[in-house]
Amino acid sequence: MEAPVSTNFIRRTIAILLLSLGATAAAHAGLDRTERAIARHTAAGQADAEALLQRVVDIESPTENLAGVRAVGDAFAAELRAIGFRTHWVEMPPEMKRAGHLVAEIDGRKGKRLLLLGHLDTVLRGEPFRRDGTRAYGTGATDMKGGNVVMLQALKALHAAGALKDRRIVVMLTGDEEDAGMPLAMAREPMLDLARRSDIALSFEAAIDGTATIGRRGINGWTLEVTGETGHSSGIFGPERGSGAVYEAARILAAFQAELGSERYLTLNPSVIVGGTKAELDDYRGTAEGKTNVIAPVAIARGDLRYISLEQERSAVERMQAIVARHLPRTGATLRFDDGAYPPMTPTPGNEALLSVLDGASRDLGLGPVAALDPGERGAGDIGFISHLLPGLDGLGSGGGGNSHAPGEFTGLDTLTPMAQRSAVLIYRLTR
Ligand SMILES: [Zn+2]
Repeated sequence: MEAPVSTNFIRRTIAILLLSLGATAAAHAGLDRTERAIARHTAAGQADAEALLQRVVDIESPTENLAGVRAVGDAFAAELRAIGFRTHWVEMPPEMKRAGHLVAEIDGRKGKRLLLLGHLDTVLRGEPFRRDGTRAYGTGATDMKGGNVVMLQALKALHAAGALKDRRIVVMLTGDEEDAGMPLAMAREPMLDLARRSDIALSFEAAIDGTATIGRRGINGWTLEVTGETGHSSGIFGPERGSGAVYEAARILAAFQAELGSERYLTLNPSVIVGGTKAELDDYRGTAEGKTNVIAPVAIARGDLRYISLEQERSAVERMQAIVARHLPRTGATLRFDDGAYPPMTPTPGNEALLSVLDGASRDLGLGPVAALDPGERGAGDIGFISHLLPGLDGLGSGGGGNSHAPGEFTGLDTLTPMAQRSAVLIYRLTR
């Protein structure tokens, strides 16, 4: 038999309902009317955002698949046009073998001029969209199709709340973030152009646990080429044969670690080394041969260098060159840096000021504080190319897990709405 529902029970239920409504209202107490509407519209956009994520993850777009990258861009372009953006493709020359960049813009006079960044390409391919509870797996699910979707969910909510009117916002979705076209200066000139016409850059790379990114390290690659005298091994250390190329390479690398290895945010990693009587090394692959009774006349090593500011890079390069120039007896060495360096996003007071606006928006939404991510925990990104021109934030995209650039990448579908709400209110506060 079913017990009659007591009036007490009904009273208690109503009280709990009122309490939880009150909690939402309290969480949104710091929001104005428009912001509350923006938060509501964002939440209402969850199903659309999930559907869009599935659609774009299921279009394969590794950097080298130009048609795939264009198709993903076209999908986002249609969504952006539906909320009033004009869109066009910035073409790259055919010999660069890159898809180009999608640009979408609206014009206005209110508030700050914003540049919103995303990218269309992925490193890997082959993993289709698959939902498992609140997780969405698939190539690019977080890096960064999920981020683009968060950006769109935010813009749609702003549009629905009438908060895109008279705003100046440019969206740039690059087609080659994961493997930038060469020459790099040409591939990134369109982004620099847009940055010069903007006040603030917001980038939607994956969000990392309650943080935003105010600094990302830059990267350069280097090649060390070492020479020495060859001859019978018994003559090593002697006045005629000297130390040989392998000892000289070892000396240089050991000194890199000893003299530069404890500086904050500076790392240099020798990734591959070959040495012997014959040695060859291209970007990723090396061969070497030698005999135990012959002194090695050649050694080659390649590696990377990561730094938080251009000053740190300059100073590291100088110290590395000084180490190279010391030379063991009868050896020589040259250290060459790549042309295609990724510049750093250096933490600045401007970036910190933006973070505090985001932090305020997040708290007012009841989503908790947002702290700065340790710049050591994030690789280089597109925003580094323009962060000397204007303040910016990164890491505004969807929250994810698994390793990006590895199979098993997923995004938390339950992060789409909160992350989009945070960014939507941030954009509103910067542009009202
Ligand atoms: Zn990315």
